Amino acid sequence: MSMHFDSLAVHAGAHPDPRTGAIQVPIFQTSTYVQDEPGCHRGYEYSRTQNPTREALEEALADLEKGSSCRSYASGCAAATTVLHFLRQGDHVVAGDDLYGGTYRLFTTAFEPLGIRFSFVDTTDIDAIRGALTEQTRLLWVESPSNPVLKITDLAAVSEVAKEAKALLLVDNTFATPFNQRPLDFGADLVLHSTTKYLGGHCDVVGGAVVTNDPELGEKLAFYQNTLGAVPAPLDAFLTLRGIRTLSLRMEKHAVNALAIAEFLESQDRVAWVRYPFLESHPQHPIARQQMNTGGGMVSFELRGGVEDGKTFVMATRLFALAESLGGVESLIEHPATMTHAAVPREERVRAGLTDGLIRLSVGIENVEDLINDLRGAFREVFGKA
Ligand SMILES: *Cc1c(COP(=O)(O)O)cnc(C)c1O
Repeated sequence: MSMHFDSLAVHAGAHPDPRTGAIQVPIFQTSTYVQDEPGCHRGYEYSRTQNPTREALEEALADLEKGSSCRSYASGCAAATTVLHFLRQGDHVVAGDDLYGGTYRLFTTAFEPLGIRFSFVDTTDIDAIRGALTEQTRLLWVESPSNPVLKITDLAAVSEVAKEAKALLLVDNTFATPFNQRPLDFGADLVLHSTTKYLGGHCDVVGGAVVTNDPELGEKLAFYQNTLGAVPAPLDAFLTLRGIRTLSLRMEKHAVNALAIAEFLESQDRVAWVRYPFLESHPQHPIARQQMNTGGGMVSFELRGGVEDGKTFVMATRLFALAESLGGVESLIEHPATMTHAAVPREERVRAGLTDGLIRLSVGIENVEDLINDLRGAFREVFGKA
């Protein structure tokens, strides 16, 4: 039955338990399954290979991304590790130049030493992607919106380039979620999630997933899920699926709050610029409007002043908690120059747009007036007026 996204988020992957009628899939906390005769089982042999709780999560995510199959993993990084095992020595990857830091570290410290080569380019520039392609390019790896400056990549255009180059296109859809954009509709081959963020949604579970609508890629994801073994625990699968049930409601509120906060910040003299995909001032605003339903829940802005002002500001909020990560119901604030990107040399950091006064907000689902008052208080505390 065809359903709108909000109905699907509530019902996807839900089948009442055949024995008891339990409306929610139980947490199948078991490692193995009894067989009726040697080799004769009911579709379940061992929980690294099959687990009903995990399957319910995977079915739900496949439906939400409009894919034919999904496999879930122990974390977003475990999902990325699994996909990178599709590659062989000498293969080349073209990736965004402002990827999630953990993804960049995985590429450069775990897979580059094994002979896989990576080029990092600004994926909002299609010519830069074309220029980086080689005969050995097998995979394009794109994040949109990107982290932390929320650059928007034209997914349909990148997908065409990937097809011409006979390379796979992977889109990390963690920031947008399928509520805002479904990359498979734009021609992506693989959609990756850190389910730790908006899908789980409550900052209480770590997980990852990959969705595809190519049966061959689906088989590979399943094969390497079992072979590499980076699977989520049944309880984690349950918690993630529980989070997904309210994804639509949460994402609506995240977006309404984030847009209001972005507009408030644009009106402040102490703010040099604000980045939010649905603000007209966003450099890729028209593409964001085309491929996303809302601008999402993340906002970045540049405070006039230096590293010290940025640091003081993020310590001055009360409701916005000072923390890395994102996508939970509670609002978070962070200062990339001294937190998530402190290890990057200043010159390189600034070149990538991660300036000294850059502040990143993960806007939660609290009352927006309370959130704006909290930010007003921080401006007063740092600059003496709002
Ligand atoms: C957090 C994150 C990851 C990594 O996921 P983990 O669950 O932390 O391993 C990958 N990509 C993006 C965009 C993320 O925000």
